[in-house]
Amino acid sequence: MELKILNDRMFYYPHQPETDRPMLAYLKGEKIALAIDAGNSAAHVDEFYTALETKGLKKPDFTVITHWHWDHTFGMHHIHGLSIAHCKTNVMLENERERLRDNSYTKYLKEENEFIAREYSANQKIVVVLSDIQFKDKIVLNLGGITAEIFHTESPHSEDTVVIYIPEEKLLFLGDATSEDFFNDGYMDIEKLKTLVNHIENIDCEYCILGHTEPLKKQDLLDYLYTLY
Ligand SMILES: [Zn+2]
Repeated sequence: MELKILNDRMFYYPHQPETDRPMLAYLKGEKIALAIDAGNSAAHVDEFYTALETKGLKKPDFTVITHWHWDHTFGMHHIHGLSIAHCKTNVMLENERERLRDNSYTKYLKEENEFIAREYSANQKIVVVLSDIQFKDKIVLNLGGITAEIFHTESPHSEDTVVIYIPEEKLLFLGDATSEDFFNDGYMDIEKLKTLVNHIENIDCEYCILGHTEPLKKQDLLDYLYTLY
């Protein structure tokens, strides 16, 4: 699969529904290259980096994680450069790492989740690591010519939700922030959704980029989210 080009410094590797792989973004500053999300396995990371190489792009210097779910983090041990995550993401990853010490948990994950079973072969190990850098509220990276404003926000999807705003490009990367909570029977907390929608309304962006769909115009996403109230 090919890297998609948003413009000369914004790229993304499309999501892959068969294995629940999310979109992986690549922001090319003059100094720093930032990736968004680490993907669901070492194989996913390798595919992404091959797609970067094909376009003559270097491997990322930093990779920021949008939330702890497996499809966004199980590739973290295999990335180039340093990872950045919210402190709550690291708490969740530490829990997951503890559980994975028991081989029966790996087996359970593969049995319970058809996507994990498709991504990982029967004997393949699942490796979970914590991020190199962690933050609580906000961290700003000056990539050179473009800024990545990385901040924690309330969301119905997970407690540790992080979004990334690129003011110069009017782009907002939302991960899975607008989705329901799969770890709470798919519960959609409308109050949390309204708080998030209010944030999105107040951010000066043209496009919103979600983990498991193609980029959307801000207004199209908002119009859809309003229907969920
Ligand atoms: Zn998720």
